[in-house]
Amino acid sequence: MARTHSVEATVGLATAVGALLEPGDVVVLSGDLGAGKTVFARGVARALDIHEPIVSPTFTIVREYRGRLPLAHVDVYRLEGPAALHGVGFEELIDGESVVLVEWGDRIAGVLPADRLEVSIAPGVGDDERLLELVTAGASWIPRSEPLRLALAPWASEG
Ligand code: ADP
Ligand code: MG
Repeated sequence: MARTHSVEATVGLATAVGALLEPGDVVVLSGDLGAGKTVFARGVARALDIHEPIVSPTFTIVREYRGRLPLAHVDVYRLEGPAALHGVGFEELIDGESVVLVEWGDRIAGVLPADRLEVSIAPGVGDDERLLELVTAGASWIPRSEPLRLALAPWASEG
């Protein structure tokens, strides 16, 4: 479990996590509206050397950026169920080259690859505290579990 007390801290944490990302990685972001999923995406973009502003893809569903690795930033909040993913070309995004970040990705867990990083963000005490839980799944994350733990150490909290 990690804890942040500002937007900048969440961006910093996500940048540290983003440095570990590899081509084809899928990052599932869950948490209520305003939790900080898009803020987290900004940190990942920073780690991928993307300098364009990251705008929430809530209405467009998918936004793609070019960086050190290509980034596809997806928000399935307004999608009418997993079947509608086809219409936005979701399968093509899982191309083994891009990093794919999916806000509300827990809603489409059934169509996501087994290898993924799951990030859950919840409010803490007061307006600016966030609790972040990061869980890895799949073989590609096994060698990165210790680097991930070290990357999160500055924000680690008990529990
Ligand atoms: P989501 O994409 O989960 O709906 P956003 O990332 O768009 O949420 O918004 C998060 C909101 O929470 C922003 O208004 C941001 O300023 C605020 N915020 C306050 N504290 C934090 C924090 N520690 N980490 C991330 N966001 C925070
Ligand atoms: Mg968002």
